[in-house]
Amino acid sequence: MLTPIRRQYLRIKQSYPEAIVFFRLGDFYETFDEDARLASREMEITLTSREMGKGQRVPMAGFPAHALDNYLSRLIDKGYKVAICEQLSPPGATRGLVQRDVVRVVTPGTVVEPSLLDNKTNNYLAGVVFNQEEAGIAYVDITTSEFATTQLAAHLALAELERLQPAEILIPNSTDLPDSSLPAPITRLDDSWFELDTARRSLLEHFGAITLDGFGCDHLPQAIMTAGAIIHYLEHTQKGALSQLTRLATYSTTSYMLLDTQTRRNLELFQTSHLGTSRGSLLSVIDLTKTAMGGRMLRRWLAQPLLDIVELSKRQDAVEWLKALLEQEMGDGSLDWLMEGLKPCDEVIGLISQAIVDEPPAGLAEGGVVKQGFSPELDQLRGASKDAKHYLANLERQERERTGIKSLRVGYNKVFGYYIEVSKPNLPRVPPDYIRKQTLIGGERFFTPELKEYESLILNAQERIAELEASIFRQLCRQVGADGPRILAVAAAVAHIDAFSSLAEAAVRYGYVRPQLSDEDEIIISAGRHPVVERSEEGFIPNDTCLGNRDAQLIILTGPNMSGKSTYLRQVALIVLLAQIGSFVPADSAKIGLVDRIFTRVGAQEDLAAGQSTFMVEMTETANILHNATPRSLIILDEIGRGTSTYDGLSIARAVAEYIHNHPRIGAKTIFATHYHELVELAGSLPRVKNFNVAVIEEGGKVIFLHKIIPGGADRSYGIYVAQLAGLPRSVVQRAQEVLADLEGDKSRRQRGRPHPPQLPLFVERPPVVDELLQLEVDSLTPLEAINKLYELKKKAGEGENT
Ligand code: ATP
Repeated sequence: MLTPIRRQYLRIKQSYPEAIVFFRLGDFYETFDEDARLASREMEITLTSREMGKGQRVPMAGFPAHALDNYLSRLIDKGYKVAICEQLSPPGATRGLVQRDVVRVVTPGTVVEPSLLDNKTNNYLAGVVFNQEEAGIAYVDITTSEFATTQLAAHLALAELERLQPAEILIPNSTDLPDSSLPAPITRLDDSWFELDTARRSLLEHFGAITLDGFGCDHLPQAIMTAGAIIHYLEHTQKGALSQLTRLATYSTTSYMLLDTQTRRNLELFQTSHLGTSRGSLLSVIDLTKTAMGGRMLRRWLAQPLLDIVELSKRQDAVEWLKALLEQEMGDGSLDWLMEGLKPCDEVIGLISQAIVDEPPAGLAEGGVVKQGFSPELDQLRGASKDAKHYLANLERQERERTGIKSLRVGYNKVFGYYIEVSKPNLPRVPPDYIRKQTLIGGERFFTPELKEYESLILNAQERIAELEASIFRQLCRQVGADGPRILAVAAAVAHIDAFSSLAEAAVRYGYVRPQLSDEDEIIISAGRHPVVERSEEGFIPNDTCLGNRDAQLIILTGPNMSGKSTYLRQVALIVLLAQIGSFVPADSAKIGLVDRIFTRVGAQEDLAAGQSTFMVEMTETANILHNATPRSLIILDEIGRGTSTYDGLSIARAVAEYIHNHPRIGAKTIFATHYHELVELAGSLPRVKNFNVAVIEEGGKVIFLHKIIPGGADRSYGIYVAQLAGLPRSVVQRAQEVLADLEGDKSRRQRGRPHPPQLPLFVERPPVVDELLQLEVDSLTPLEAINKLYELKKKAGEGENT
């Protein structure tokens, strides 16, 4: 026989098999059965058990209700879903079992608790569907009401999801994709949720519309399917609290610059690639926003650079205007479009400040949300309840005096209400008006008619207060909600102004200039700087760039290790990127012909998890670039072919450079940094290849890196010098120099066409006898020891030759 609570629990749990049910029991949330085992493990709480029927001990683990956010975050962070089951009737209000039901299912993509969210990052719930060629992607942030959908070529879907960085992705059950291939925890839903008709109906019902024409997606089936599935899922998990989602934007990824995952990572836009921290990223330099919404907006801009000059100029104007403002020269008011949204919401602010206490409690249940003076009825009830409590507080003293029983106590408990407690020895002194209520081991509990009266006054007042507060609060939510669109418009305007101010402040603080944008095929930067490196590197050396499809389409950049090649490559990409989010750029001047995509092939990262070697990753990335670049793209190549043998690598590097230069479909503006000095020769045969190198001077056996990019090719890498700086053992450095000298001599002899002497094998092991000789401290030897050592070494050398 199960207890009624157990039956209630099982009925509720049955509807939420995919979630861990937090079951409210008084001041605690409890979990049961398998949920309890999991919760105890993941949230580090004690696993106990509870008798829930005859012979039915059930595993149980719980925590105090006020700590909900804390425990919720531990599970949500790990990708679990939690169904929160509340008590729907106040305890004692109804006879028998307290009503309970799930009020919300919290999933990674539907979190609303501020303490669980990073307020400068959107928390997106995304959905994706694929057919052969096309995909639909929709996403929503229920805390900011942003809801958008798009349809795009299937092969671009992953990059778009990477841009969104959702917290959870919905896909149809039948989608044949391993979960690990998508960049967030996956929730698989019944295919029917994504069916076109069902999805369309979900959207129409939600928006109360009869056609999707007005949303711009009527002709995009995949876009409708995902957006509809998202609404359906939200209704299932949020229990209908979705009225804030009043808009669905249809967008096209073709109006944005596409940034693939590698490029976002390589350029360290949001976090550094080696430490994974946001410090040291481009965003950390330009994000000087003051509000969460401004921060989110700037982050979105950076993930989604624009291709439209008109839109970009508008942003540049805004930044310029606010600059002017920072320097105390008011602008000419050309920003009316931005100010439009800034209609003050005085009534809403007034209403909230009149009605709600300055520091409201986290939940309504605790009471005390509504301010004194807002509702006369509430004030009256609170007064009565306070008086009654005051009476009770005095009652104990009064009754002790009246009866002479010093240990008499007035108390309260949930089952019996208010009582007067008298211990056994004092029972004979109990006055006749006391009525017995409960017998204890050590005494009796009583009440009086007067006490009963006050008790019902207090309890009724409290119940009434709770009801009244809740109804005032609901009414207030409705009033504020009615102004929702205006509040959202103000929030959007504030976000824009904050993001623009941030860019303006960065421009003033760091000395950025407004780039001239065009549709020409050229990138001309004078005295450009790396926005992040210049913040930490004192005396950063600026460099020029001139790239264009006509004569300098492909720059071969050679130069020593550690001279600044990688910094320069990234700096060019970052300047273009900043220009295309509407920002000013770190340079003396810049003319940027808009690019459709930035490709980067930088460094070597193994993707062993995906079963790919360093070289394989390198080649896959290169293949992707050669397949997808267009004449409007910018390609940044930091070494190609280094992960294999020299000749293989050099051959691949050369073939790639020729392909980019010659292939009519590519012709992309490219900077190719390489240690293969042989590539410098390309400039002789390919008209749009230009050589540049990074200047160094050698002085007294030392190499000084000037970090200055100058025309011409380099012929040395100074790799051995850098190896020495890095602390390689002296003997290794010396040996490397010998080998290099031999190799170079060999090469020049070959180049002169002479027969060459027997080649020095590259990595011969030095005979131990030579090491011993080198380590010998000759000065410390006596003549006799010296001659003995000489015999010994000669003998060893002879043995070495014979083996
Ligand atoms: P490698 O070929 O070994 O990868 P590299 O030529 O790509 O080296 P970078 O890593 O770009 O060299 O730069 C080496 C260091 O030089 C950087 O850590 C940076 O501190 C400094 N540096 C780079 N460019 C500049 C510059 N323009 N002005 C001042 N310092 C610079």
